[in-house]
Amino acid sequence: MAPTVAAPDAKPHTRKAVGLAARDTSGRLAPLTITRRSTGDDDVAIKILYCGICHSDLHSIKNDWHITMYPIVPGHEIAGVITEVGQNVTKFKAGDRVGVGCMVNSCQSCDRCNEGFENHCPGIIFTYNSVDHDGTVTYGGYSSNVVVNERFVVRFPDAMPLDKGAPLLCAGITVYSPMKYHGLDSPGKHVGVLGLGGLGHVAVKFAKAFGMKVTVISSSPGKKQEALEQLGADAFVISKNADEMKAAMGSMDGIINTVSANIPVAPLMCLLKPNGKMIMVGLPEKPLEIRPFDLILGNKSLTGSCIGGMRDTQEMIDLAAKHGVTADVEVVGADYVNTAMERLAKADVRYRFVIDIGNTLKDAE
Ligand code: NAP
Ligand code: ZN
Ligand code: ZN
Repeated sequence: MAPTVAAPDAKPHTRKAVGLAARDTSGRLAPLTITRRSTGDDDVAIKILYCGICHSDLHSIKNDWHITMYPIVPGHEIAGVITEVGQNVTKFKAGDRVGVGCMVNSCQSCDRCNEGFENHCPGIIFTYNSVDHDGTVTYGGYSSNVVVNERFVVRFPDAMPLDKGAPLLCAGITVYSPMKYHGLDSPGKHVGVLGLGGLGHVAVKFAKAFGMKVTVISSSPGKKQEALEQLGADAFVISKNADEMKAAMGSMDGIINTVSANIPVAPLMCLLKPNGKMIMVGLPEKPLEIRPFDLILGNKSLTGSCIGGMRDTQEMIDLAAKHGVTADVEVVGADYVNTAMERLAKADVRYRFVIDIGNTLKDAE
């Protein structure tokens, strides 16, 4: 990624923060003092209190996608409180409870931005590992504070707790958006949720809030009981169990594929009804193997979905608050983050780690 030329009105990076950074492909995270720009006219400064650990953070620190710029400070499920606002800021004031997801900027003027789909803007700036308009590399939410243009900040509804709500900023919008845009949001539909991790468990909760039938398709038999009893799934299919897979054939209108590893998708396409869709949100690095037959028989589609726009993100968190949808979290201290990453790699978390930044990561002096 080539650094861009600094914008003429670029603010100096005078605000210090402490981040948890990986320096190389070992992915080991350790404290690093970083700087943030001083609050610009359209910016808000946020004291970060919680940050979720998304599997994309793990992919990124390990350089799975071959695009990582070290040192990297990951984190794009940020929840905190505003400490300062710029003079043009109209939506927020100091003290507001807010969140930041996967984007911190875009061109803000193209058709996609104007339609509310900043996530599809060619000038999108991701929360970390992107080169911002001022030429600096962005650092994410495993850090004590952040400065963000107000357009990319979401208001936390009063009823939404910061710790259990933080994961909605990525996991929530990433599953909500394809449900909304692929017609998987109404009673009578049957959705399959493939992979019961951070994204998957929120997908189950939204699907139940929409009144749909939900089947979890999982590689972990140990998750069955809680999926059915605690998350409210209607059925649980173990992907390696041929009999269970056969019984579920041709039954689903859509499958949201959240699996972070390379797995064969062709057998899973058989679970779809004619005209059914598999929507990829999981991001393993290697290409998918699929034959035209797997799509053509039954007019099936394989498609993808990338996070969601800012308008939809606010809509999602408001709706989540209304329906009581929050993430099931294991809140951990900053010194646990490397262990958390090891456990996440083994799908050993119910269902999202959230770092208690406010209490365990001291801000820079
Ligand atoms: P996660 O919490 O680790 O969940 C992934 C789940 O996939 C695991 O819990 C596991 O579920 C299943 N899985 C993992 N390894 C597997 C294997 N070898 N074989 C079969 N199943 C396996 O991850 P996450 O945070 O939900 O993220 C999931 C993926 O979505 C990641 O690749 C991430 O980068 C991507 N992502 C994409 C977007 C987007 O905009 N499209 C946004 C956020 C994240 P079971 O135990 O139930 O099998
Ligand atoms: Zn994420
Ligand atoms: Zn744009």
